[in-house]
Amino acid sequence: MKKQYIYTPGPTPVPHEVAAAQTSMVHHRTDEFGECLARVLEGLKFVMQTGNEVMLLTASGTGAMEAAVANCFSPGDTVIVFSGGKFGERLVEISSRFGLDAVVVEYAWGDCADPAELEKALEGNPDARGVFLTQSETSTGVVNDVEAFGRIVRGTDALFLLDAISGLGAVDLKTDEWGVDLCIGGSQKGLMTPPGLAFVAVSDDAWKASAGATLPRYYFDLQAARKAQSGSPPQTPYTPAITLVQALDVALRMLREEGLEAVFARHELFARATQAAVGAMGLRFVASDLSRAFVCTSVWAPEGLKSGDLVKLLRNEYGVSIAGGQGKLKGKIFRLGHVGYFDMFDVIAQVAAVEAGLKRLGYGVAIGCGVAAALEVLAG
Ligand SMILES: *Cc1c(COP(=O)(O)O)cnc(C)c1O
Repeated sequence: MKKQYIYTPGPTPVPHEVAAAQTSMVHHRTDEFGECLARVLEGLKFVMQTGNEVMLLTASGTGAMEAAVANCFSPGDTVIVFSGGKFGERLVEISSRFGLDAVVVEYAWGDCADPAELEKALEGNPDARGVFLTQSETSTGVVNDVEAFGRIVRGTDALFLLDAISGLGAVDLKTDEWGVDLCIGGSQKGLMTPPGLAFVAVSDDAWKASAGATLPRYYFDLQAARKAQSGSPPQTPYTPAITLVQALDVALRMLREEGLEAVFARHELFARATQAAVGAMGLRFVASDLSRAFVCTSVWAPEGLKSGDLVKLLRNEYGVSIAGGQGKLKGKIFRLGHVGYFDMFDVIAQVAAVEAGLKRLGYGVAIGCGVAAALEVLAG
């Protein structure tokens, strides 16, 4: 027997009661499902801290990124895109695939995006129709200062598009207060639900832009989603992932019961505990400012070790899934997740697995030093 532990920063562990909610199949045109969808849409507004309508799509998170771009922009539109990791690169790729004129502002992987760079980019591109940013760059673990970016975008005609897929339900996100026009989320990170649902909260300005935007869209047509969702009870234009909506209903209720402040505090505590463990093991961090790292802890593999070998050993020998590096960090780093349904013993187990794995691979860390440091934080 091998027990499976999923400690990756997406997909993340799914609570029992969330998984169990997926057992009964109802038709998506029934009132019963419509009422469930209505609760989910309200719950999404709650976690996104928005009064804007949230469109629900059956897709992984990337589908909502594509939907946001395809609905609100036209070929040739100038957009300023921040890229400091794998997911920032994805925003750049989607922009160029859809024929937007992307002004790419690169920042170092492991750093935060600098709001001053946005001011500079806007000076050079006063006609920019959009500013694209990743809230939590899951490939490095760094969380950007969305509020500071929002303050700058507010003074322009540009739409503020935010990939909040791994930050949602983990770190603070005041969609309306921070002026986010297109706030993008997904089900399988902080929202503790299996992958397959994606969301976009759409501001009035973004709806106005969508009316005149000429990029083609069909499955991801947000106007069609809005029309179907405006019914009473709400519906979706096409068959949604019915059982995932049922699961998300339970997960959102759990987050509501815990309260957002407590949810954010829990994520912060687990980040600090994991960081303490990694520091005690004498390993180096990818994030240059640990106070900005919340959803996962990215760690440089020790000299001479391919991080994929550690990831493989943990998975094969112990049933423990941690994440390797993505893009240009592939093979070089490993990432310890602590976003979503984690408790203090998951944090400890993950650290213990890394210690055991490094020992097995001949990288002698003093056994127990990481565990002790994490426990010191957690039990404090
Ligand atoms: C997980 C994630 C995505 C979306 O990935 P999917 O595999 O399409 O769900 C996008 N951006 C960030 C920051 C993510 O963490």
